[in-house]
Amino acid sequence: MSPTTFFSADYPEARAKFLSACAERGLDVDSRLNPHAKGARGEDLFMDIARIGSKEASKILFLMSGTHGVEGYCGSGAQIGFLREGYFADLPDDVSVVLVHAMNPYGFSHDRRVNEDNVDLNRNFLDFSKDDRPHSDYSHIHAHVLPDDWDGPARQAANKQLALYIQEHGMRTFQAAVSGGQYQHADGIFFGGHQATWSNQTFRAVLGDYAGAAETVCFIDFHTGLGPYGYGELISLGSLDQKALVHNWFGDEATDPDAGTSSSAPVVGTVGHGVADVLQNAAIAFIALEFGTRDINQVLTALRGDNWLYHKGDFGTELAERIKAEIRDAFYPDEDEWKKLIWTRACEIADRSLKGLIDAR
Ligand SMILES: [Zn+2]
Repeated sequence: MSPTTFFSADYPEARAKFLSACAERGLDVDSRLNPHAKGARGEDLFMDIARIGSKEASKILFLMSGTHGVEGYCGSGAQIGFLREGYFADLPDDVSVVLVHAMNPYGFSHDRRVNEDNVDLNRNFLDFSKDDRPHSDYSHIHAHVLPDDWDGPARQAANKQLALYIQEHGMRTFQAAVSGGQYQHADGIFFGGHQATWSNQTFRAVLGDYAGAAETVCFIDFHTGLGPYGYGELISLGSLDQKALVHNWFGDEATDPDAGTSSSAPVVGTVGHGVADVLQNAAIAFIALEFGTRDINQVLTALRGDNWLYHKGDFGTELAERIKAEIRDAFYPDEDEWKKLIWTRACEIADRSLKGLIDAR
């Protein structure tokens, strides 16, 4: 089957394909309804979970899609491919694979990177009971990230200010200020939230239900938007122990935002940081498998535009349509070549992760 058929045109199609591929494999699906939001077509939104292999397995591979909503086309395509192509059909008794489809189904359905609260789920895994929100330089640029208009003088002036900031501080510092995660501006981009979101709480419950007694757990969380077109970078996230395990399995191919070896800036409150809270006795390898799409400036502009539209823009206009087309393209290049690259790399990483798990003591 051509891998291009694994990918979908919208969230309802992706969900339907995932459910039917699970049914064909004889897998039960555990569907957790998001009671706080509806999809772009008024549909209900679910995080769907399916397990291949034994309930009692001590080693578990989690394959997750849609942590960043619109990025879900990529991971969903890989998950559906694994199911249809008979992957993980003969696992050892002590190994299972858990597929989590649409971690952030609102963003997937609405072609947004954020969830229904404008929160970046991959910055939302902080301990909000403590007071120490990480410092961010985002406040210095927020007004320029979100100008009053998107096709007039305010946008032009804001772009000039951002260009000046980059000139003065460098692209790397700018990227960190924009994307590192911020907790001050709820109408900004890469906002981590003020409390654990529905997706966060639901995923924590899923972890407890599916991996509460596990000894070794590997997470492959599919992302898009950074790095070379169609290449899947293995970004290691979480604690030093977690990163050491990933390095053990993947060597120097695994990159580390904190060490400056990744296309990602250092980030806080990631899902990778969150899993250790729930699975305190497990050895954990957490990888954000990050597939490149378009040039970083194009991606950031698309994110700014989408954020502007939801806070200051009008829907039903030609401008709104253009903005939505741009964010979708920035995170889901709807091109056969890209989908084939995704599928090939996804298979390779799934095989290598499984080998790491099987060989783990
Ligand atoms: Zn992402």
